[in-house]
Amino acid sequence: MIAEILSVGTELLLGEVTDTNAAFLSRQLSEMGIDVFFRETVGDNADRLEETIRRALGHADLVLITGGLGPTMDDITRECTAHVLGLELAEDKPSADAIRGRYDSQKMEIPSHALKQAYVPEGSTVFFNTRGTAPGSATEKGGKTVIVLPGPPHEMQEMFLRSVRPYLRECSAETIHSRVLRVFGIGEPSLEDRIADILKEQTNPMVGIYVGFGEIRIRISAKSASEEEAERMIGPVADELYRRLGTLIYAEGDTSMEACVADMLIKSGRTVSFAESCTGGMIASSLVAFPGISAALTESHVTYSNEAKMRTLGVRKETLEAYGAVSAQTAEEMAAGLRERSGADMALSVTGIAGPDGGTPEKPVGTVWMGFCDENGVTSTCFLFGGDRNRVRRMTMLNALNRIRCALIGKDR
Ligand code: AMP
Ligand code: MG
Repeated sequence: MIAEILSVGTELLLGEVTDTNAAFLSRQLSEMGIDVFFRETVGDNADRLEETIRRALGHADLVLITGGLGPTMDDITRECTAHVLGLELAEDKPSADAIRGRYDSQKMEIPSHALKQAYVPEGSTVFFNTRGTAPGSATEKGGKTVIVLPGPPHEMQEMFLRSVRPYLRECSAETIHSRVLRVFGIGEPSLEDRIADILKEQTNPMVGIYVGFGEIRIRISAKSASEEEAERMIGPVADELYRRLGTLIYAEGDTSMEACVADMLIKSGRTVSFAESCTGGMIASSLVAFPGISAALTESHVTYSNEAKMRTLGVRKETLEAYGAVSAQTAEEMAAGLRERSGADMALSVTGIAGPDGGTPEKPVGTVWMGFCDENGVTSTCFLFGGDRNRVRRMTMLNALNRIRCALIGKDR
């Protein structure tokens, strides 16, 4: 089934309100295996709205419209939909009763336009609005379906999940199931190189890559009649991706590097401590968000100044003078000193230039040295992150967590 989504509202065209409804509906429909080829936004203008509905009906079996169901003059979606379909509007009694009840209970006289919201194209399936006034509707005509939903996102989402999704499930036999592999530590071009043939060849299951913050998600989705069949189709593709990417895949599904490393640490029985310069405590804080982490995290020091690096971690003055605070030598002395003092199994340090000032040609903004020390000795890695101060700090935090993850699975880095 092919669907098209129309968002109605001049405020959307002006950029005053962000169209979150279309994104929500796109996600929901794709999960259900319904293809969306076009989305369109149109203002509160009857001619243009009707033209847009007609055009959408030319492309799609199913047209979903949100917005323009309010009580005011500029809310014209129900009238325009009925007009395009050649239908009259008819009152939906439960919705009208609910509107009357609301005014009665407040002992208010009902305004003339209020009941307008209870009308839907005649013969429609009506979706009651539990969070607002205007009901939604699904109208079938000539083998096509037009679904109209209210604009306020909390009303629309509730109505979709409670009523529209079951309605659509009845119309479409196929469903889509996906598995998402989360990848960290490789850029998009290199990842594409490694799996280009898989990305190109696959139609069902389909494989797509999406760049997130610091990570890439690979979604494998299969269209089929049942979940079991979809899993059978997805399995071999996922196995091949694991074969090629190995431990670059850090987790699957709805999780994060922070959650994943916190969980691994808690289960590992090992302890960790941090010495944070440019991250200012962010690494520890990202782990402290997870209950139970006290089993693994012993301490974290924000050693921002050279003085603090010497006093708290035992970094030598000569090292700082000879190589600078942002260097392999300083990062390694920070990690080694920290491990000795904290007694933790693993000690990780970061020292970098988050910007916007402080960069030099040899050490530009975004340069970060990370030190790591465990029973196998001390190592250091240099990163160069692009972006603003906040991005550099967050990327440092994620890479620090990934370093811990690699140590826990016995990988060098
Ligand atoms: P309406 O049904 O057009 O009167 O819209 C009611 C409220 O929902 C207004 O505050 C709109 O800004 C908001 N709204 C309408 N359409 C969308 C949309 N596509 N995404 C997010 N908010 C919306
Ligand atoms: Mg509106």
